[in-house]
Amino acid sequence: MTREALVDLDAIRSNLAVLSTATAATPAMVIVKANAYGHGAVPVARAVVEAGAAWLGTADLAEALELRAAGVAAPILAWLHEPDVDFAPAIEGGVDIGVSYPQQLERVAAASGRAFVQLKVDSGLGRNGADATQWLELVEAAAAHQRAGRLVVRGVWSHLANAGPEADAAQIATFTEALEAARAAGLEPELVHLAATAGALRVPASRFGMVRLGIGVYGLSPDDTPVPGLTPAMTLSAPVVAVKHVPANHGVSYGFDYRTTAPTTLALVPVGYADGLPRSASGGAPVAINGRTYRIAGRIAMDQVVVDVGDAPVSVGDRAVLFGDPAMGAPSADEWAAAAGTINYEIVTRIGPRVARRYRG
Ligand SMILES: *Cc1c(COP(=O)(O)O)cnc(C)c1O
Repeated sequence: MTREALVDLDAIRSNLAVLSTATAATPAMVIVKANAYGHGAVPVARAVVEAGAAWLGTADLAEALELRAAGVAAPILAWLHEPDVDFAPAIEGGVDIGVSYPQQLERVAAASGRAFVQLKVDSGLGRNGADATQWLELVEAAAAHQRAGRLVVRGVWSHLANAGPEADAAQIATFTEALEAARAAGLEPELVHLAATAGALRVPASRFGMVRLGIGVYGLSPDDTPVPGLTPAMTLSAPVVAVKHVPANHGVSYGFDYRTTAPTTLALVPVGYADGLPRSASGGAPVAINGRTYRIAGRIAMDQVVVDVGDAPVSVGDRAVLFGDPAMGAPSADEWAAAAGTINYEIVTRIGPRVARRYRG
């Protein structure tokens, strides 16, 4: 079965260049967590390093170590750790460890080898990172460990909530104060970073010394405003596997949410919610076949969807494109997101392991 996510690595390289220009050439950490948002961590990592990414970012250490095992030598930061994770392999693999609170720092300092850490402050998002009460303790302890040669503090960083200009300004101010406190404790972090794609593009004051770029590199916008020059990198498609002619008033898919209104042709496309299509997009999401865009008829099933193609001459083997680059006539991940009441991030990231990744470029 050739359910396929074709990933255009040239588009990914070109998106990085477009983002670099749009962010005044601020050095970039490209975020390749969650299998590079579904695009394939190793091929994407290699492509963006070639294209000038200074750093790679992953959530889990295991994701970073997978890149190392594949021979990716670029600097990597990983920041989301289980309480009992073993930091030694990360230290040995030269993976920078994001550290969010004092006990975590102690575990890193106690692990064998000298770790490179990047201290994370919570500037307001309410997720990971030391809050104001823990930050002084964290930077002072880190400075002491650094003096003792147990670790090196390479960076200080935080993450924006994208909650509007006022919230951005408040987070930038909190972050700047935290940075000053770190310096006052004797730290001289060489990397200072706050912004992801949205901040990097929309809030120049949030760029500091590096921006962390995820969604934009994959060619999608972080919000409702399109970003000029980006090319969606993933095209999800599958062959039509069955075609049948049916009369009017024929029910389609579970529950008969859809009924044909005239004699018509139904095309069966073997991609379903097991492959990451959101079932909540049933009835509204687009599929293009032979250059025409249709809506999915009835419910998205685990393995398949049905498309009512009317009297169009669709045959078994014709390729159905669920989403891709609208400039090439494909429906967009954004349209899928709108149909499902979600965001484009989720549409691409959830594409599952049953879908073969193929690479171009
Ligand atoms: C996922 C993530 C990013 C990338 O965000 P985008 O909106 O995809 O650019 C950056 N930083 C952190 C901490 C993240 O978790």
